[in-house]
Amino acid sequence: MENLFRVTDNEDLFAHHRCVWVNGPVIVGAGPSGLAVGACLKKQGVPFVVLEKAECIASLWQRRTYDRLKLHLPKQFCQLPNLPFPAEFPEYPTKKQFIQYLESYANHFEINPQFNECVQSAKYDETCGLWRVKTVSTSGSTRSEVEYICRWLVVATGENAECVVPDINGLSSFSGKVMHVCEYKSGETFQGKKVLVVGCGNSGMEVSLDLCNHNAMPSMVVRSSVHVLPREIYGKSTFELGVLLMKWLPLWLVDKLLLIFAWLILGNVEKYGLKRPSMGPLELKNCKGKTPVLDIGALQKIKSGEIKVVPGIKRFSAASVELVNGEKLDIDSVIMATGYRSNVPYWLQESEFFSKNGFPKAPSPDAWKGKAGLYAVGFTRRGLSGASSDAVKIAQDIGKVWKEETRQKKKTSACHRRCISQF
Ligand SMILES: Cc1cc2nc3c(=O)[nH]c(=O)nc-3n(C[C@H](O)[C@H](O)[C@H](O)COP(=O)(O)OP(=O)(O)OC[C@H]3O[C@@H](n4cnc5c(N)ncnc54)[C@H](O)[C@@H]3O)c2cc1C
Repeated sequence: MENLFRVTDNEDLFAHHRCVWVNGPVIVGAGPSGLAVGACLKKQGVPFVVLEKAECIASLWQRRTYDRLKLHLPKQFCQLPNLPFPAEFPEYPTKKQFIQYLESYANHFEINPQFNECVQSAKYDETCGLWRVKTVSTSGSTRSEVEYICRWLVVATGENAECVVPDINGLSSFSGKVMHVCEYKSGETFQGKKVLVVGCGNSGMEVSLDLCNHNAMPSMVVRSSVHVLPREIYGKSTFELGVLLMKWLPLWLVDKLLLIFAWLILGNVEKYGLKRPSMGPLELKNCKGKTPVLDIGALQKIKSGEIKVVPGIKRFSAASVELVNGEKLDIDSVIMATGYRSNVPYWLQESEFFSKNGFPKAPSPDAWKGKAGLYAVGFTRRGLSGASSDAVKIAQDIGKVWKEETRQKKKTSACHRRCISQF
């Protein structure tokens, strides 16, 4: 274990319960955000420890996404600080390529997370002015608990930590297969099946498309409204165009222009059951965090009738579903593309910086720094580019204090604190 000073490490006396002093920050989560902070801290010369509950880095991408997934945004908006994507990667890297990039990122910056350690609680101890972070790890039948003590805590557990599965009338009586989209890998196992996809965000649309491509028969539930935009507008990424236009024009005008382009390219999507929200796509993203769908082919399947768009659900029964318009559909399986939520409220004992929904209270771009050495990375609802900019700011902030203090210590006295560092 690098970077750590074991205060209590007598296996006989304190079997499976240790207390560890961390020289530098503890980063909770080894997804892209946690790795980005780690890499930036390395540049600042600050040691740190990354705690990860899964057995690998980027567990969302490695364990909880479907095979056909590609980055939704062009690669220049998804790379992490200080290491660009390989030049030979396509504009929209595949999931496999993105994981490969993250693996080489972790190797390049020598980031070695403590895997299989789930943070159960983190609390600021006013008396000593330090954070106490408790983890549980299980290996086989052994369960061990560790308490990390540190001065800085970086929350990098992501906006998508837990699956959201709404409680829908009669769902427990449905006898077919029900899964959250995070368990879906490919439509291969659904050939010839009637599948109800609940939700019409990027995941719901892409899974419906994938089901079609594997000769399944998807019906997609669109309960309220959704903004569908083309992924590209006359050869330029819609996202990039939006970012560019925002530099000169007000948000409402950019929204208007995007919707005009969407209408010219996709036609009137409302006649296929995809009602547009009254707020524009960027305004909706800013106000409610709802991401517009960037179409990669599902719309064509909707137009051809291969993906059936249906309204909200009234209730499930053993082998069918009744919709709010009274229509009944026979179905074999249900895929819940109903989103994710943050898990921060379950483990972080703090209510000033984070709100009850597990996101920082302050709006972006001020959502990265709390009080008493608390930081958040990747909670700006701006994807990987938001996470990268948070990471740079956090590392600079901690690095400044770290450098001042280590310089002072060197001047006044030799440092006798035992510390095994990665540097
Ligand atoms: C299907 C899908 C496609 C996406 N595509 C894009 C895209 O193209 N571009 C883009 O910018 N964004 C995209 N996103 C947004 C996505 O949130 C980011 O890409 C990215 O994964 C966020 O990184 P993160 O590190 O903040 O969170 P995560 O990737 O979720 O990583 C958080 C890590 O924290 C760990 N963790 C959680 N709780 C604990 C705990 N208590 N103790 C220890 N460890 C814990 C998790 O195991 C996980 O490894 C997509 C999201 C999804 C779901």
